[in-house]
Amino acid sequence: MSMFICPVCGEKLEISGKSYICTKRHTFDMAKSGYVNLLPTNNSGSVHGDNKLMLRARREFLEKGYYKPLCDAVCSSVAKYCHNGSIILDAGCGEGYYTTAVKAISDQSEIAVDMYGIDISKDAVDMAAKRKSGVNFAAASVFHIPVMTESCDILLTMFAPYCGEEYCRVLKKDGIMIMAIPSENHLWELKSKIYDTPYKNEVKNYQLEGFEFMDSEKIRYTMEIPENSDILSLFSMTPYYYKTGKIEQQRLNELKSLVTQADFELLTYKKTAKD
Ligand SMILES: [Zn+2]
Repeated sequence: MSMFICPVCGEKLEISGKSYICTKRHTFDMAKSGYVNLLPTNNSGSVHGDNKLMLRARREFLEKGYYKPLCDAVCSSVAKYCHNGSIILDAGCGEGYYTTAVKAISDQSEIAVDMYGIDISKDAVDMAAKRKSGVNFAAASVFHIPVMTESCDILLTMFAPYCGEEYCRVLKKDGIMIMAIPSENHLWELKSKIYDTPYKNEVKNYQLEGFEFMDSEKIRYTMEIPENSDILSLFSMTPYYYKTGKIEQQRLNELKSLVTQADFELLTYKKTAKD
């Protein structure tokens, strides 16, 4: 059984061989890697999301363990709320680093969870699916999630765009949302080396419509990055990547090594009941 629904008619999709088929016979073939493209046909996904080069840089950086403390915290947090049969969705899963880790931890503790990951970038879900982790990956937007209403027990959002309305819709009653955000000192030393006037990250109000704020966990540690290529990869994962000028880029290219803070917050919310 699949939690995915048909992007054409909204009916449930069933897996048949290497395809997902709805009751109206709309068919979506899995890619060789195993993900399925559930983007509306007028949205090829090619103009959205991260490109292959960035995705590869990101994977390499993450695989070196620089964000492992955050990943471990996410896994523990999910473990607190999941049980046998839980349906977990990673909304905006990227190349699947956190998705796969959460699934692996559940497998190790012999909790049978049904794990789903969606991302608007086909390249990202293709890379994610190649991990062969038993996660169901689809190319889809977090603003139009192709899963049934009130079907998920836990939703993860790891630095992905936020769509409260959709996240509320797909979560079951009392469903849990786990969200990672950069905290105020995240990458402060990196920013100090690049910008003349660096700014701290803005810490937002915890309140979110449709959710009850439950818990916040701070994850702070020092990262020692001994290679310029890793510093560049890290930088490409940040929002600053898109608004950096020539001088800043040059400073970045000249950084041989870096010691910088990682400063995250992991927030937990519960979906509030509708009146
Ligand atoms: Zn259909």
